[in-house]
Amino acid sequence: MSEPVADWTRGQPGLAYQECHACGHRWTFARRFCPACGATGTETRAASGRGIVHALTTVARAPSEALRPHAPYTILLVDAAEGFRLMAHGEGDLAIGDPVTVRFAPFGDGLVPVFRKDLP
Ligand SMILES: [Zn+2]
Repeated sequence: MSEPVADWTRGQPGLAYQECHACGHRWTFARRFCPACGATGTETRAASGRGIVHALTTVARAPSEALRPHAPYTILLVDAAEGFRLMAHGEGDLAIGDPVTVRFAPFGDGLVPVFRKDLP
């Protein structure tokens, strides 16, 4: 058994992804089988935390009381350098196509990935 990869979904400051041995598809959020082809041979790896903004939206009204102090906040779809897409928070002035890097911040009950634009 190899060491588990740190992942924010377990409260750790890291971004894990999985890759399918059969078809090469990559995704976040641990699963027992590949969401693209159904194969069960998968590997979990640590992502670099770098990516490109694919889409963004501003959440003006938080979905829960715990999150209300954070609103308004920016939610992004990021195309990670490793080839998977994830939803995450964004901070600062962001636009589609911007190169971004992740950090991890407390939000509600846990840690969430927050992407910030790379400095030129
Ligand atoms: Zn697959």
